Amino acid sequence: MSARRRGPSTTAVHGIPHRRPDWAPVAPAILQSSTFVSPVGSDEDIIYSRYGNNPNQVELARKYALLEGSEDAIFLASGMGATALAHLAVLRPGDHLVSSSWIYGGTRQLFDEELGRFGIEITYVTPDHPRLWRKSVRKRTRAIFVETPTNPLMRVVDLTPVAHVAREFGLALLVDATFASPINFRPLEHGADVAITSATKYLNGHSDVIAGAVAGSASLIEEVNRLMRRWGQSIDPHAAWLVDRGMRTLALRMERHNANGRAVAEWAESQAAFSRVHYPGLPSHPDHELAREVLDGFGGMVGLELAGGPAAAEGMLQRLELVTHAPSLAGVETLVSEPRLTSHRGIAPEERAALGIPDGFLRLSCGIEDAGDIIGDLEQAVGAER
Ligand SMILES: *Cc1c(COP(=O)(O)O)cnc(C)c1O
Repeated sequence: MSARRRGPSTTAVHGIPHRRPDWAPVAPAILQSSTFVSPVGSDEDIIYSRYGNNPNQVELARKYALLEGSEDAIFLASGMGATALAHLAVLRPGDHLVSSSWIYGGTRQLFDEELGRFGIEITYVTPDHPRLWRKSVRKRTRAIFVETPTNPLMRVVDLTPVAHVAREFGLALLVDATFASPINFRPLEHGADVAITSATKYLNGHSDVIAGAVAGSASLIEEVNRLMRRWGQSIDPHAAWLVDRGMRTLALRMERHNANGRAVAEWAESQAAFSRVHYPGLPSHPDHELAREVLDGFGGMVGLELAGGPAAAEGMLQRLELVTHAPSLAGVETLVSEPRLTSHRGIAPEERAALGIPDGFLRLSCGIEDAGDIIGDLEQAVGAER
């Protein structure tokens, strides 16, 4: 074992590389066991898969911590489980949370409908008014939550002023960077204390697992682990094994997602059928300069506004052959969805429009197919000339 820090591609394949004994399997075994033999008379923690100490769970968390550059990490049963427990770990009844308003719809509902039940108050800040971070801090403020890049406008939030306020007032800064994956963006390098990811998305990358993860200090992860045991949020060993398998190709997949996202966005911007294209790699994107500075890749997510509005969007969805109409994202296959019917379903149309997501907005998750085939399918679906 060497303490040398290896590149992300190597880490995503091996975790911490180690010599294997003769005849050991090269692929890790799935330890699909709820419980493990306990030494008689031992007062050590038992091994029990709800406790997150099944070797499949432990190895996976170690690998993710290395990729995020954190002291420790933990996997949970879903991205929502990760978001929920990370917040419960830092907030107490009566506390106040400052959150970006540009967040996943499920997270918004968790904050408004569930954290409220614990007497936790939330103030939302629009990140393009960075002075509001400081102005929103109260005596009982304990944490700040940010999502970047955002769903579905691909806004890239500048963490520097947020981290500054968090440090000044001793607040925990939690960042959901699902849309980037640790290959494209690592929140802890930009002043965050906690990174949250829906492993359902890029980490696993094959649309066959629901999982989430939290990375941060050893003490924070210990508290998330305690909550996980109580609230029953551990990841199943088989799901952990699948996420680990997916992660072995994470760096390679991200290269293609980044390339395909850019190719599709550049093509779409040249087409009259689309009135607006949201992609941080385009110079027309409001956060392009910041994205170039902080991201190692612009990702595979593209927001498309159809010039013909909701009717044109629906017509296009009806004609797609390769691109699949399905919620979720970040798998090897290209998916398209309408935020109004999926991630932002719980939000009123006027509020969605105010957030910059008019009805007829399509969110495209570019897979790892050949870019020309994705573009060809979109082209025939919008009825554009070849
Ligand atoms: C999907 C998603 C989540 C929720 O993750 P699940 O694994 O579906 O629970 C949270 N945040 C973002 C940004 C997401 O895209």
